[in-house]
Amino acid sequence: MTWSIRWKIMTGTLVVVACGLLIAGVMTIQALERQHLAQLGEALEAKTKLVEYGLQSLFDTARSSLPPAQLQDAARDFSSRAMARVTLIAIDGTVLADSAVRGIDLSTLENHKSRPEVDQALTSGQGQDIRASRTTGERTMYRAVLLNTTQDASPLVVRVGLPMAVLDRELSETRDHIIFALGVAFLAALTLSVWLAHNITKPLSDIVAAARQLDSGNHALHIRTTAQDEVGLLASTLNHVADQLQTKVDELSEDRAQLLAVLTSMVEGVMVMDYRGHILQVNPALERMFGISRIEARGRPCIDLFRHQQLNELVAGILRSPAHHQDEIVLPLTGRCLQIEASPAGGKRENEACVVLVFHDITDLRRLEKIRKDFVANVSHELRTPLTSIKGYVEALLDGAKDDPVASSNFLDIILKQSDRLNLIIQDLLELSKIESGGISFKEEPIELKSLIERALSVVRPIADKNRHHLTTMIDAALPAVAGDEGRLVQVLTNLLDNAIKYTPEGGTITVDATRVALEKTEPHANAIDISVADTGIGIPEQDRPRVFERFYRVDRARSRELGGTGLGLAIVKHIVEGHGGQVWVEANHPRGSRFVVRLPINPNRQLPAHWRDASRA
Ligand code: ADP
Repeated sequence: MTWSIRWKIMTGTLVVVACGLLIAGVMTIQALERQHLAQLGEALEAKTKLVEYGLQSLFDTARSSLPPAQLQDAARDFSSRAMARVTLIAIDGTVLADSAVRGIDLSTLENHKSRPEVDQALTSGQGQDIRASRTTGERTMYRAVLLNTTQDASPLVVRVGLPMAVLDRELSETRDHIIFALGVAFLAALTLSVWLAHNITKPLSDIVAAARQLDSGNHALHIRTTAQDEVGLLASTLNHVADQLQTKVDELSEDRAQLLAVLTSMVEGVMVMDYRGHILQVNPALERMFGISRIEARGRPCIDLFRHQQLNELVAGILRSPAHHQDEIVLPLTGRCLQIEASPAGGKRENEACVVLVFHDITDLRRLEKIRKDFVANVSHELRTPLTSIKGYVEALLDGAKDDPVASSNFLDIILKQSDRLNLIIQDLLELSKIESGGISFKEEPIELKSLIERALSVVRPIADKNRHHLTTMIDAALPAVAGDEGRLVQVLTNLLDNAIKYTPEGGTITVDATRVALEKTEPHANAIDISVADTGIGIPEQDRPRVFERFYRVDRARSRELGGTGLGLAIVKHIVEGHGGQVWVEANHPRGSRFVVRLPINPNRQLPAHWRDASRA
């Protein structure tokens, strides 16, 4: 059983008070008894002297010993005068007279020599004792003196006895009063100790309750106390501690929320590990990168979770030697390329951040790098081919061919063609670069589609006729106008028609079609117009279709070159169409050939691609 402080204070105070009261009571009663006995002793001594003096006078008058009857009368006489029992005893102990006994009964009394007061009187002249009388049965205080009667008669012992009944009663009453007073004092002490214990422990109980609240995480507390003592000091200290704790908890929560917000909004994946390589924290970006969940990751060894040898080696390396590490890995499932920065965080215990790994997804960067490298290689190659040819023929001319008129005219013709080709490539490249960098702004004018298509057809018609191609159009009668740059859109259609003519054997059919898109309203481009250019030519294999819009991509490089293509036409088409917020793609034409579709939104609020918007803003 645990005793509360209140009980301890109460019982402690009460035990001390009870002991004090008991000791005080006992000592008071004893002192009173002693005082009463001393007073009684003094009275007895006075009465004894009175009796002694009276008897002495009696003996002096009689000058001889007195007969027993006279002694008995004298004893009775002095007894009534002194208001005490008077006994006269011979020195051999025989009772000669006794005021409390009739004369005839004296002989029945036993010898009194052994009575302590008599014995003392016989020895030292006087003696005193308190005891219950065997004769009267009362508690009595005796005083005895040795009285030398006459020279003839032997001395006798005069004993005076005072009954103590009154004294005892008075003492008992006094004792009762004292005990009652002590009882009242004890009750007062009890009340006082209860009040005291309550007053002392109430603030303590409040403090205990507050400490419990602190323990359960409620720091917003305030202990009210008016006490100016140590308890008050403790309460105000606890209030201060709670305030500080609350501030610290608020700060930590804020920091944590900020950290979580940063971690959550980061595009980079973040993983925190302790010194054992066990995962403590991963952010949503990392969950997405590796297709894992935070719950399954937490607490697990990194090596078990990812099972990626290169990543495991990196982790093992930084755990062995805590320094900055960097590596690049490719995820086998998604093929994504991740750059990892591993930095030591200093933790040396379990569940303490020891290593922080940051994963940057550099797949797009690497792809762009590859495109750039390929582009540079392609451009160099495309430029070098006509240049080499030009250089070769110029050298041949210098070496003497210039003297041969037929050969020189032939060579110069080739040099001219190659220069034209070089010029064409450079023009296309400049055009593409201008469009990509946002250097060209598209007009937004209403375009009547029928006239747009007619303009494009009129450009290519001479070559189509030359190749005996059939040019047909299928244009919906009630097509709305689209907003855009007519010149650029004519360029798009001319490019597509030019390709269709190039890649369709003689006598083929090329159809230009324009219809309104029939899509659900909720779908993107629901409010658009599709313009398609279909041919019955060589077609494009399915795997090449998505790539023909890349710069310099050609299905058949030699054929394209032979036909005077630069490999940039479709890339320019794609950029112009996207610049109008539209889409372009190629599909198979049935039963033969290809079908290029340009989808243009009717709504003039174009959704420009991000790189265009950024470039035009800059
Ligand atoms: P090129 O100048 O070589 O024609 P383009 O960018 O215009 O370059 O076209 C890229 C490649 O797409 C061409 O080399 C060709 O292989 C293919 N291509 C384009 N249009 C057609 C078409 N109508 N039929 C078949 N192949 C085509």
